[in-house]
Amino acid sequence: MQQHEQASEIVKHVDLVAPEGANKVLMHSCCAPCAGELMEQMVVNGIDLTIFFHNPNIHPKREYEIRKNENIRFAEKMGIPFVDADYDVQDWFARAKGMEREPERGARCTMCFDMRFARTALYAYENGFPVITSSLGISRWKNMAQINDCGVRAAAPYEGITYWDYNWRKNGGGARMYEIAKREEFYAQQYCGCIYSLRDTNEWREKNGREKIVIGETWYEEKLN
Ligand code: SF4
Repeated sequence: MQQHEQASEIVKHVDLVAPEGANKVLMHSCCAPCAGELMEQMVVNGIDLTIFFHNPNIHPKREYEIRKNENIRFAEKMGIPFVDADYDVQDWFARAKGMEREPERGARCTMCFDMRFARTALYAYENGFPVITSSLGISRWKNMAQINDCGVRAAAPYEGITYWDYNWRKNGGGARMYEIAKREEFYAQQYCGCIYSLRDTNEWREKNGREKIVIGETWYEEKLN
C-alpha cells in the first residue's frame, strides 16, 4: 500500500511542518510502539517518510529481532520504506565500557543516542534527506532535552541536514502512542534496551517482589496499559 492510500484512513491530529518546509524526512526509530504515532501523523501530513532502524544497543539479539520485526510489520502495513541498518553490537559495547553502572538518562544513554543518531545523520547525508528526527523522545521515560542535544550534535557536521526537535508527546501524542500500540497489538518491551537496562530493571523487579523479565512474552492488547 502506498503512503497516500494509508493516509486516507488515519485521523490528522496535528499540523506538521518540517524544518525549512522540507517534505522528506528520515526518522530514526527505536521500536514500533514509539514510532507508531510519528509514522501516522507524518504520513497523514503528506510527509515523505523513511524509517531508519539502527539500534545496536538492544540486547539480547532475540529482543532486537522482535522489536525490529514489529517495526517492519507496521511500516509494511503503512507503505513506509524501512532501512534496516547494522546491528553493530561490538562497537556499542566498546563505547559503553566504563559506563556499565551509569543510571538511565546518564552518560551511557548520551553515548547510546549519539551513536544511533550519528549513523542516521550519515545515512541522511549520503541519501539526500534534509531532515532527521527520532521516535525516542515520545517516551515519557526519556529525557527529551538529552535526546534533542544528541540529535542536533549528529546533524551539525552536515551542511543541509537539520535535526527536527518536534515534541511528539504534545497534543495528545503520548496517549495516542499507547492507543496505536494496543490497536496494532505491538510487542511491549519491558526495559529500555541494553543489557544494563535489562539488569537494572530486573534488580528493581526483584526488590519489588516481581517476576524477572521474560523476552518475547508481553504484547499490547486492549487490557494492557
Ligand atoms: S538505558 Fe537505553 S538509552 Fe541508555 S544506554 Fe541503555 S539502551 Fe541506551
